[in-house]
Amino acid sequence: MTVLAFSGNPLDRASERRSDPAWLQAQAVAGLYLPFWQTRPFVLDQRAGFLPWRDGWEGATCIFLGLDGTQPLFAVDLAGESEPALGQGGFQEMRASAFVLPARDTAIAGQAKALLDWHKRHGFCPNCATRTQIQDGGYRRLCPNCSAEHFPRTDPVVIMLPLFRHADGREECLVGRNKRFPLPLYSAFAGFVEPGESMEEAVRRELREEVNLDAGVVTYHASQPWPFPSSLMLGCYAQALSRDFQIDGHEIADARWLGKEEARARLADTIDDDMRLPVTIAIAHHLIKDWAQR
Ligand SMILES: [Zn+2]
Repeated sequence: MTVLAFSGNPLDRASERRSDPAWLQAQAVAGLYLPFWQTRPFVLDQRAGFLPWRDGWEGATCIFLGLDGTQPLFAVDLAGESEPALGQGGFQEMRASAFVLPARDTAIAGQAKALLDWHKRHGFCPNCATRTQIQDGGYRRLCPNCSAEHFPRTDPVVIMLPLFRHADGREECLVGRNKRFPLPLYSAFAGFVEPGESMEEAVRRELREEVNLDAGVVTYHASQPWPFPSSLMLGCYAQALSRDFQIDGHEIADARWLGKEEARARLADTIDDDMRLPVTIAIAHHLIKDWAQR
């Protein structure tokens, strides 16, 4: 089973203990801290750069990540216009870090990024506009005025590869080029699940909207946390009821059917033309690869 980037987090989040302020304070004293600056993790020697607490970090948003064995780990969000100097190492963009860090560090840094992002954008109560307070090591915010509780959000996104099966059993998948993609990238289709919608219904709706394709059976494949800023990608296959499609011209600029042999060749980067498939950290890469190899 492939471990997708940002999944496989090894930490014990100690969710049953982190609401105890005395326990949390004891962890903070013994803790190591992963600094973030402008949503970028601190990277040191190609690892997540956990450091002992430093003077000057008081007042920064600080969240509990979990226990690595017995070692408590935290993340701290450093402010400032210019990059804080922490000796060797530096702050690297999260996506780029995922190509450099070991899988476990990518997952831990992704957890930290999603949480810190949420705190940065949810400092005030949506109910009464009072500034809210961090609780439970960062897994809850409490409004001191109206007592409303607010929890970090995870937004479900469906990402799906339509498959068409010919009468002879041969299969093709449909990949599309989103207008927002850097030029030659073709990928699976994706969209947010809306309120009052099942995962399967979101898959069918998005395919109708983006490529006017009718889909039948939807099969769940795997999921991936995707901290940009707080998505959970739900990877699916969708049975295409016909080969006919029509791009919307708005979100999708082009779409093409690929056979398994061509998909394998493109994933191996042996075809040099104007079409590229997604990189390995994206679940779309694995949706295409896992289908093409079966
Ligand atoms: Zn309130």
